[in-house]
Amino acid sequence: MTQKRACVFLDRDGVINTGGLINSASDLKLIPGAARAIASLKKAGYLVGICTNQGGLSEDFDGNVVWKQRPLNREKLAEIHAELSRQLGAKAQPDFIKICPHAKKIVCTCRKPKGGMLTEAGKEFDVDMSRSFMVGDMATDVLAGIDAGVAPLFVLSGFEPEQKDKCPAGTLVFPSLKEAAAHIIKTGQGK
Ligand SMILES: [Mg+2]
Ligand SMILES: [Zn+2]
Repeated sequence: MTQKRACVFLDRDGVINTGGLINSASDLKLIPGAARAIASLKKAGYLVGICTNQGGLSEDFDGNVVWKQRPLNREKLAEIHAELSRQLGAKAQPDFIKICPHAKKIVCTCRKPKGGMLTEAGKEFDVDMSRSFMVGDMATDVLAGIDAGVAPLFVLSGFEPEQKDKCPAGTLVFPSLKEAAAHIIKTGQGK
């Protein structure tokens, strides 16, 4: 019998790379220690995937663009993720990237704080959610983790660290992904 894998779901902006609203590959800059943290999680047996809201794509459920001034398109997003992959390097490649491409006015089940992206990836990759984690720099990431039934961790490396105060009481807080990953590895739930 094969055992289900544990997964570390990661928000992208403010966790792996600096800032937010990244609309071009040249804006992408890794947070110190992020690539090594991802590599160490993978080595410890975890699946590592990214779940990111990309409302800048402004799509409806059929992929039609519903906001003409949208700052992002699919081609630019592919360039950003190719650059992310290049900067992360061979040992820190994410196992998947899930996006919510929907315009803010579209009511979907994937945009965080809902857990839809995590739940979907969990099914796709046969994840044991009870041994899994979500790491984010916004309260909406923490809430998405709770919605999907994984343990949420908050990191202060985003551009709004005061978001910590919007998280449910008792949420574990770390300076950055480096320290959060060390905590996750210490639980020994990757294997
Ligand atoms: Mg973020
Ligand atoms: Zn969505």
